[in-house]
Amino acid sequence: MRIQFTALFLVASLFCSAQQKDLTTLLYDTYETYKETTLNKRRIKHFDLYPLIEKYRKNDKFKVSRVGTSIEGRPLSLISIGEGETNVFLWSQMHGDEPTATQAIFDIFNLFNSPDFRTEKQEILANCTLHFLPMLNPDGAEVFRRRNRLGIDINRDALRLQSPEGQTLKRVRDSLDADFGFNLHDQSTYYNAERTEKPATISYLAPAYNYEKDINEKRGNAMKVIVFMNNIIQKYAEGQVGRYNDDFEPRAFGDNIQKWGTSTILIESGGYLGDVEKQEIRKLNYVSILSAIYSIATENYKEIALEEYEKIPENDRKLFDLKIENATYPLLGKDYILDIGMNRLEVDKEEHNDFWYSSRILDQGDLSTYYGYETLDATGYTITPGKVYPDLVSSFSALAALDIKSLLKSGYTYVRVVNIPNENLSSPFPIHVIGKKYEVPDFLVEVGLNPTFVLKKGDNITHAVINGFLIDLNSDKKTNFKNAMIYR
Ligand SMILES: [Zn+2]
Repeated sequence: MRIQFTALFLVASLFCSAQQKDLTTLLYDTYETYKETTLNKRRIKHFDLYPLIEKYRKNDKFKVSRVGTSIEGRPLSLISIGEGETNVFLWSQMHGDEPTATQAIFDIFNLFNSPDFRTEKQEILANCTLHFLPMLNPDGAEVFRRRNRLGIDINRDALRLQSPEGQTLKRVRDSLDADFGFNLHDQSTYYNAERTEKPATISYLAPAYNYEKDINEKRGNAMKVIVFMNNIIQKYAEGQVGRYNDDFEPRAFGDNIQKWGTSTILIESGGYLGDVEKQEIRKLNYVSILSAIYSIATENYKEIALEEYEKIPENDRKLFDLKIENATYPLLGKDYILDIGMNRLEVDKEEHNDFWYSSRILDQGDLSTYYGYETLDATGYTITPGKVYPDLVSSFSALAALDIKSLLKSGYTYVRVVNIPNENLSSPFPIHVIGKKYEVPDFLVEVGLNPTFVLKKGDNITHAVINGFLIDLNSDKKTNFKNAMIYR
């Protein structure tokens, strides 16, 4: 009897996991059909969501209710679907500059609004009611910043509840008494999975609800769902998952919502090589969140061993955009060996719809415990200051007519331009543009400075580093270069 039962159970669980795997793969492969194409970059605004939310208001499948208002008066909407007993509550973008999951939520709506995936959707909606609160901090999103209009971090307002956004989150959580909560954020792209060069494309946390970090059934269920999602992400971004430190933060929403009895899952969207606007990571959100909801509906996640959670590597923050290793750096008549770590910092344009890069050296020295999205082993290469091109260039169109690569090969990293267009905040050319009277400061490799130099091997200049972008002067391969600086 016992043997039979075990065998039956094995068959059943095999069947379930095969079915589950199929759903995930199908979701991934058909993603483009459901992608909400009006949202396609990180700097999205409430204004972009509004017509979509209004569309669902008129749709019988969805229930849309206004549940609050931001400080600047933007409506906060809760969009619900399903009739099931298990309440699943998902909220995104309580930090205004963390939009990846907001986009994925509208992809999920498109799937539920389609005639496809009928069986799985029926199973989800019969067992669960899903409640989404996208873009909890629309005032922050308007100016692409973390904090709300009051200048506070909503995620430290769970107890004091001064922000109307935080009050709304608490009120909705309490009114639903949600069984599961998905707390959806973005993290820095510089996080990696501990002791590997892999970015933490997704990081998870089942937040603690006390200083002792106890694990009750609710928190345990959150951990199991995280293990389930981790397995999915591993399929598409192997090794690129991190687990957050679970120190208890008594002011944070995740920790408190866990404490209030909702199994809470924090998802942080991080970085992925070449995915500046995080559209691949958005897709991974879509696939993994939908699959997780399905496993909640079918209760498959309950089979997962809790210990698996601790096996997910911890989050670390040891990535640079560009790392140059073992370069020779001459200083005051002596040569030194340096690693240099550089990051490209985003500077928003006035309307916060777009940005340009102003890069910085973040660290230098022995950086052997750090990694780069892009790494150059510069053993035998000498860091050499860039020069100012001696001819005065009249305009941007005259500059465009020059062979900039050959200027770089000759060691020029600055061009003096007479008429720099007012509207240009940065140089679209892979060379810095300077005004008629600008004086380039003495060259130094120093933390905080803009990384700009050339690399020499023997007498040949082989690479240029311009505003933190590495340009291989002996290759015609397209680079990730976006902009150099203008110094007027
Ligand atoms: Zn956040």
